[in-house]
Amino acid sequence: MKSRWVDSDAQTLVDQLAKLGVGDDLALRVYTTRLLGQDPQLVLHGGGNTSVKTHMPDLLGEHTEVLCVKGSGQDMAKIEPAGLPAVRLAALKKLRAFDALPDDELVRIQRANLLDPTAPTPSVETLLHAFVPHKFVDHTHANAVLSLSHQPNGPDICGEVYDGRMGFVPYLMPGFGLAKKAAEIYEAKRDVDGLILHKHGIFTFGASAREAYERMIEMVTRAEERLTRRRNAVFVARALPERIAAYCEVAPILRGACSIKDPLVEGAWRRQIFDFRTSSAILNFVNGAEVMRYSQAGAVTSDHIIRIKNWPLVVSPPEEGKLNDFRREAQDAASAYVDRYHAYFARNNARCEVKKQPLDPLPRVVLVPGLGLIGLGRSKTEARISADLAESVVRTITDAEAIGRFESIGEWEMFECEYWSLQQAKLGKEPSSPLAGQVAVITGGGGAIGAATARAFARAGAEVALLDIDEKAAVAQAKEIGGAALAVKCDVTDPASVRAAFVRVVETFGGVDIAVSNAGTALMGLIGEVDEALLKQSFEINFYGHQRVAQNAVKVMRAQGIGGCLLFNVSKQAINPGPRFGPYGLPKAATLFLVRQYALDYGAAGIRANAVNADRVRSGLLTSDMIAQRAQARGLSEKDYMAGNLLGREVTADDVAQAFLHQALELKTTGDVTTVDGGNIAAALR
Ligand SMILES: [Zn+2]
Repeated sequence: MKSRWVDSDAQTLVDQLAKLGVGDDLALRVYTTRLLGQDPQLVLHGGGNTSVKTHMPDLLGEHTEVLCVKGSGQDMAKIEPAGLPAVRLAALKKLRAFDALPDDELVRIQRANLLDPTAPTPSVETLLHAFVPHKFVDHTHANAVLSLSHQPNGPDICGEVYDGRMGFVPYLMPGFGLAKKAAEIYEAKRDVDGLILHKHGIFTFGASAREAYERMIEMVTRAEERLTRRRNAVFVARALPERIAAYCEVAPILRGACSIKDPLVEGAWRRQIFDFRTSSAILNFVNGAEVMRYSQAGAVTSDHIIRIKNWPLVVSPPEEGKLNDFRREAQDAASAYVDRYHAYFARNNARCEVKKQPLDPLPRVVLVPGLGLIGLGRSKTEARISADLAESVVRTITDAEAIGRFESIGEWEMFECEYWSLQQAKLGKEPSSPLAGQVAVITGGGGAIGAATARAFARAGAEVALLDIDEKAAVAQAKEIGGAALAVKCDVTDPASVRAAFVRVVETFGGVDIAVSNAGTALMGLIGEVDEALLKQSFEINFYGHQRVAQNAVKVMRAQGIGGCLLFNVSKQAINPGPRFGPYGLPKAATLFLVRQYALDYGAAGIRANAVNADRVRSGLLTSDMIAQRAQARGLSEKDYMAGNLLGREVTADDVAQAFLHQALELKTTGDVTTVDGGNIAAALR
């Protein structure tokens, strides 16, 4: 590991921040905090923290000695001065005299001593920073240091590697007790450059930002060098089937196995989004003969527990052509995981004075021998974080096993971290988005109705995939939605193209829960004279297109085994033909029947099929030019033409999107057609 300190970069930031009234101390603190945060070998997703002791005026203008310390949950890689709130140092130092201090009381005292009462809550490790005298203090959960210290003889190995230059603090849960213990160990030997926290991480100290930072780099490098020496061969591989099934076949099965029924709402499931990773290092880890030992030994650092729990789920290798066996084994493994989690909760909760509320028992990481690992979460963002942490676990445990044997903290210690109120606060409240954890595929996603539907579903918490023959349009709409919205080129008249698009969606998110079959083309012609080729062309897109999308969606939904929802854009033409609109209306009428056939054939599997009949919506099918022509032909203004319905209101793409969203949420409705046309008695269903 090399120092990434550059004098000119540091100076540039100091100059920039000076213009905003930020002093040199805090500016340099921001600079090295970012350097640390940008290295995934040191810090991941909100882990780690830093501080500087300095002076600044309080709100009344009085010169005050403060500790600027990272706010809880702030991302070090992108930190700004406001992410390092200033706390009155004298007040923090007074706490040293206390014998004990509960966490919530500690947070109250820290918040009460913020210079700015609106600043973020200081890190839960603030007191450790306050109790050591150095101006700059850096803390990370460096993988290499964790690999050294997570050993039965971790203290000896650290002693040998650091040769008296680092103090060694036995494992304690973060909070007041750990801060006090660390300070005592520091005071017993004041010439150390930092502290190793057993099974937790590393602190380094310095008189300057550069010194503390470069000590961190030096100490982590020492750990890395030790890990390159006297290595055992890891891991001995298990026997694997000759042919492993493809990830896109395996993911839906696992997604079903890793979902649980919502006990409060019949028909609803708690689902998760997947993020798949594979590499030679990951395969080496998941394919090991002893994977059930080292992967189940426990967490690597307390920060991980709240995101990826104490253990991953390990399933058997999926053999090609034997997916039914794999499904059974995966379901058994997942339910054993859930049982183990419930038992773990009950056992440890029994020891708590104040009883805890159990978190959901589902795994956040799945190891699949032969394929790789999967991070799980309620959104793609959460799934990626799980996968990032899992990759870092693979590295830490692999290195630990190479020089000895990986050993975690005890079960009770893990429970304390997982159910610690302050850690729980970091996660925030679970979003109440009704479609969280669900994957929605929308065909014609680049068009007006498709894009509006994708937006509505994304706002409701779903991950969305926009399929369109016009790739550019789909990309533009996905970009506007932001997040993990995926754009895929797809021609619904080509079976291979539809299949490939679903593979892409499954590889990206793990499965499919909702398919909105919306792509269509309005072809016209007098029915007695129309060219048969045109009629067939219309059937290709306006009927077979829907059938292909539904068929592919149902295949994935059946593999998941947790129900699903098919939604079709049918059109008013299906029941109320317009003049010269036969080529469009006929396949749409067949599609209306298709909706009912899917509802009938797959209701028992929990797959619902519903449709929206919309009329006169501005879109690629009804362009401004067409509107102008038709309005003129009827002697109406464009506005009156568009609002020519019982309610006198123009129907928009967003209105159609809301109808689809509604149908996606109606868990007891299938075979339904919802009309969105502002009122047209001739087109009313009877
Ligand atoms: Zn820490």
